[in-house]
Amino acid sequence: MTSAGRFAPSPSGELHVGNLRTAILAWLFARSTGRRFLMRVEDLDRARSGAEAEQLRDLAAIGITWDGGVIRQTDRGHLYTAAIDRLTSAGLTYECFCTRREIHEAPSAPHAPQGAYPGTCRNLSAAEREAKRAVRPAAIRLRAAVAEAEVRDVLHGIYTGVVDDFVLRRNDGVTAYNLAVVVDDAAQGVDQVVRGDDLLPSTPRQVYLASLLNMPVPEYAHVPLVLNADGARLAKRDGAVTLADLAAAGVPVDKVRDALLASLGLPAGPLEHALAAFQPAALPREPWTWPGMAGRDA
Ligand code: GLU
Repeated sequence: MTSAGRFAPSPSGELHVGNLRTAILAWLFARSTGRRFLMRVEDLDRARSGAEAEQLRDLAAIGITWDGGVIRQTDRGHLYTAAIDRLTSAGLTYECFCTRREIHEAPSAPHAPQGAYPGTCRNLSAAEREAKRAVRPAAIRLRAAVAEAEVRDVLHGIYTGVVDDFVLRRNDGVTAYNLAVVVDDAAQGVDQVVRGDDLLPSTPRQVYLASLLNMPVPEYAHVPLVLNADGARLAKRDGAVTLADLAAAGVPVDKVRDALLASLGLPAGPLEHALAAFQPAALPREPWTWPGMAGRDA
């Protein structure tokens, strides 16, 4: 399988300029290294009807091209089940009956990092599990043998972060992001993952899981996010931040694309023009504050 990069949006709403900037970077990283570029809709959770079509329309409008069809995670349940079954056969999963509140209130294990699952259900007896199953359905957690793992990132260097007994399948039956992303990237031949650096803290879990499943670990580049004027992560409520909002305000899509490219130190014009100038080492390492854009009539 030839190597590939990808963009993997969650269809929870329209993409904003921060998401589009990350998509441009993922495309540039892939195309500048001769990789295919794949589009995967991560619709296991938080999908809003109509959002996928809007997102794909906006990605195409900004000049993103992708190879082959669009893959949807809701069509791939068999792959996730097979991976969880493999882990379970190897004794690497357990059922967890904790509510969010119970986890929050449980005393954390000594030296356990902040936010790590405290291990409440790790060693339940068969009888205890039986009794708990009668009360609520179980989530499936990984039985992790390590507390942290290392990630090698093109922009961050070596990053070490927490690995805990994280959830593989939620108790409502929905496959967890950390499992689906590892299985899909491996199955699709994705060997380069470019995404927002808010996901860097999840990556040690994914690297560890890939190693347990004997799946290759991709190259990672976690790119800086776009912020609003208050220094918080850009969100839809921050004014005209989608292509539709900006078009309504008189700002054409090419201008938005050029502003995003300029924020990366890249020349204006179709993305193909930026390819020649693209150098990962020269990318800004700091988040970019969205300055807003006014149209002709503003
Ligand atoms: N679906 C995730 C998101 O939209 C991205 C996951 C990834 O790129 O690994 O935040």
